[in-house]
Amino acid sequence: MSQELNKLREQVDGINTQLLELLSRRAELAQQIGDVKKAQGVNRFDPVRERDMLDRIVEANPGPFDNDTIRHLFKQIFKASLDLQQKDHKKALLVSRKRHPEDTVVHVGDVVIGDGRKTLIAGPCSVETEEQVFQVARSLKEQGLKLLRGGAFKPRTSPYDFQGLGETGLSILRQAADKYGLKVISEIVNPADMERAARYVDIVQIGARNMQNFELLKAAGDAKLPVFLKRGMSATVEEFLFAAEYIASKGNTQVMLCERGIRTYEKWTRNTLDISAVPLLKQESHLPVFVDITHSTGRRDIQLPVAKAALAAGADGLMLEVHPDPSVALSDANQQIDIPQFETFMNEMRSTGLFKKSEE
Ligand code: PEP
Ligand code: MN
Repeated sequence: MSQELNKLREQVDGINTQLLELLSRRAELAQQIGDVKKAQGVNRFDPVRERDMLDRIVEANPGPFDNDTIRHLFKQIFKASLDLQQKDHKKALLVSRKRHPEDTVVHVGDVVIGDGRKTLIAGPCSVETEEQVFQVARSLKEQGLKLLRGGAFKPRTSPYDFQGLGETGLSILRQAADKYGLKVISEIVNPADMERAARYVDIVQIGARNMQNFELLKAAGDAKLPVFLKRGMSATVEEFLFAAEYIASKGNTQVMLCERGIRTYEKWTRNTLDISAVPLLKQESHLPVFVDITHSTGRRDIQLPVAKAALAAGADGLMLEVHPDPSVALSDANQQIDIPQFETFMNEMRSTGLFKKSEE
């Protein structure tokens, strides 16, 4: 009995090996077909051809599997072949580590980002007044930081909320940054503003709501300024990388990625920080990765542990909002920290050893 079973099993093993060989040969042919189609500019997925193959296979089905089962099995094989071609495509993404194994280091004048040291970007949610921005800029300088953020074009949920000071806001940021030896990072929402922005900002921010604004991404690629790209609140990690690829495809690989929390059912935080996105992005891509500890949490009381978690997970830097008087801020009043709280935050970060004085 057991001898008979062993014989049958041996035959099954032999067929498995043959199937594997056949599947591998089929996959190689599918890859060659993919290359030919690519050269011809033809779409890889061809539903008419699939239907034709399935019909012929079913017609030749000798049983004992029924036609539905055969269709299902072969569709899996077709899908695996197509995935194989798509994986080849992913391998070729400019933002992928497979294409460029070394970390990308972003240079903003004399400021270096992503070289292994941690970078902190801070500043108010919105630019409101000269005095407000200058106060924060001075505090950044005192803390040894180099990158001043502030929104001049604000993508607000309601059209009746403060929309930002526009070019005036950019000008205030520039003046404050120049006075304190800082660099400016600010969000641009309109592709047509990209050129004008280059007069005021050192880094262009593309916000969560615009992560898939493809014309804006292309304009940021053309602008040749470093870009700080935030993850869309409903974007997958893969979609996030494709958004970065839009910028890179225009010849600009000075791109930083920022995880800023995604939408979930959780209400105790404004968004849910997807901490696993940090190591995933570092693994998949060579671009520097940041975590926005303000918009991800939407609250002040957990920013410190979240910041530590982000750096421990491998983030190259953090973004946070600081306002001289958050309670009267024109946007995000509930989540910005004031200057004394910012100083405490900086001291705590230094005491963790994750963020060293020498890294500022
Ligand atoms: C911001 O950083 O100013 C901002 C609006 O954040 P997000 O795009 O992540 O919502
Ligand atoms: Mn904000």
